[in-house]
Amino acid sequence: MATKKVTKIGVLTSGGDAPGMNAAIRAVVRTGLYHGLEMYGVVRGYNGMIDDDIMPMDSRSVANIIQRGGTILKTARSTEFFEPEGRKKAYDNLKKRGINGLVVIGGDGSFKGAQKFSNEFDIPCIGLPGTIDKDIAGTDFTIGFDTAVNTAVEAIDKIRDTADAHDRLFVVEVMGRDAGYIALHSGIATGAENILIPETKTDIDAMIAALSEKEKRKKLVNILVVAEGEKFGGANEIGAVVKERLPNADVRVCILGHIQRGGSPSCLDRLIASRMGYSAVECLLNGTHNVMVGILNNKMHYTPLDNAIKAKQKISNEWLNIVKILAS
Ligand code: ATP
Repeated sequence: MATKKVTKIGVLTSGGDAPGMNAAIRAVVRTGLYHGLEMYGVVRGYNGMIDDDIMPMDSRSVANIIQRGGTILKTARSTEFFEPEGRKKAYDNLKKRGINGLVVIGGDGSFKGAQKFSNEFDIPCIGLPGTIDKDIAGTDFTIGFDTAVNTAVEAIDKIRDTADAHDRLFVVEVMGRDAGYIALHSGIATGAENILIPETKTDIDAMIAALSEKEKRKKLVNILVVAEGEKFGGANEIGAVVKERLPNADVRVCILGHIQRGGSPSCLDRLIASRMGYSAVECLLNGTHNVMVGILNNKMHYTPLDNAIKAKQKISNEWLNIVKILAS
């Protein structure tokens, strides 16, 4: 069966926001317009498709946004889209306008929605990995990770200054409910003593023993970086244990929180968002449908949505080894 020609494309951002989503929206809209397509922005993720909150987008509507964090289309988590009735409503609203291609910028949850939608209806979907968590397989980069991790590094560097002034031990919590990438990268880049992530079991006794040995050596400044989804319970719990077991240490806990999601996207995030946004439209036009666009070894890489939702990017043992060796 010949694939239908895509002439009108809707673009939306879904799930958690990530810096660089605006650059991706801009790239999708302008590439589509370049090819003479009609472009539409869907507001608040899948909710906008269900509630018919959809607007035409021209070149000016994406002017002056490449440098802005957040997403001009807003984002949301849509419970109605989990239900077949919700997805049918969404389809009817796209159909009514003749929208026959969709670009979804979000994380793996958003791709699950896109995969179901494209299996149920004759609207091809392209997923762009927009998540600060970087836990998606099939791509070396996700839009937002580089900015988020640099925000974390900047904050931890500042914490180190005050930790040094007071000889304190800081337990810093960074984002990552299921993925430890922000913790791992920011921890290595700031010379953290230990990095605690959801993917590995935290050995509290070994951690206390290492800190205690460093206390004896009068290494007084220590930074522990903890991902929020760390299985022992996060920074507050880790801080409490360290305080209890090392009563002489001056322990403080700092939770970085949502500052990691905001702010102007880094150059890298703007670049990958632009490449991926451009590529999404090319895919819809050349019949590479229902894939996630990624970048692997500096080349565009297309993972079928069915596979993109199954595989998670794994943390390599090499990274974990580096942490251990460099923190002596
Ligand atoms: P982040 O990685 O930032 O959390 P995400 O895209 O993984 O982003 P989710 O909240 O998991 O965020 O998913 C976003 C939305 O995608 C959901 O609110 C829902 O509307 C849709 N979605 C997720 N999973 C499914 C599913 N199994 N079926 C249908 N829709 C889904």
